[in-house]
Amino acid sequence: MAEATISVVKKLIHGSRYLVVISGSGMQRERGHKSLRDPERAYDIEAKYRYSPEEMFSSVFYNTRIEPFYQFYKEEVLSQDMQPGPAYNAVAELEKQGIVKTIISREIYGMSQKAGCQNVLELHGNIEVNHCPRCGKVYTKEYLLKAKKVPLCEDCMVPIRPGIRFYGEMIDNGIMTKVANEISKADVLLVLGARLDPDFCDHNLAYYQGDKLILLTNREDTGDVNADYVIHGSLDKILPKLL
Ligand SMILES: [Zn+2]
Repeated sequence: MAEATISVVKKLIHGSRYLVVISGSGMQRERGHKSLRDPERAYDIEAKYRYSPEEMFSSVFYNTRIEPFYQFYKEEVLSQDMQPGPAYNAVAELEKQGIVKTIISREIYGMSQKAGCQNVLELHGNIEVNHCPRCGKVYTKEYLLKAKKVPLCEDCMVPIRPGIRFYGEMIDNGIMTKVANEISKADVLLVLGARLDPDFCDHNLAYYQGDKLILLTNREDTGDVNADYVIHGSLDKILPKLL
């Protein structure tokens, strides 16, 4: 690993043959959003609901305590007003230019799509796309928010399943296959705001066969050594300079 310069990384990106982006939680942190796992936020949530975010954001909790689940989910997740900023817009622009081929997203707010990205693979689902487990009818985030308590399918009267992946749940096999395919095709892999921890490396980097893994991150981490090139700093400031 070496701390790289903007001009070196820009050259690698524009000289790429097949560039794949992995967009992590640091992209939202840039927008001032704290993830549910952020220690400070997790503490506040536990004080308010008596359970930790990990406990509530699980299929066990959803299946056994659906009312408190939906209270938590509506207040702490669905009500968040999340809008993409310069970093997301820069990725969308690079895709428009034909440089970025695929965006693998690790967030659930559909921010890449809001910024105009087309080819997005969502590892953890999307809060905007919810479905009835019985008939498959799709419901928007607004429909869920409008429900007084637990949102029900208007045809089947069964609870609507949120379109996100709970902690500890497996990633959908179809998505995982596509992700593996895309990463194995990449000559340049651009990781934005993610920690290259063992879990991330096992599930994503195992498929990467190139030698140009670029990490741009706003939070230093021991896993940064797993990248070939690293730039630390604000993603909203760095990414527009790479256009
Ligand atoms: Zn239904």
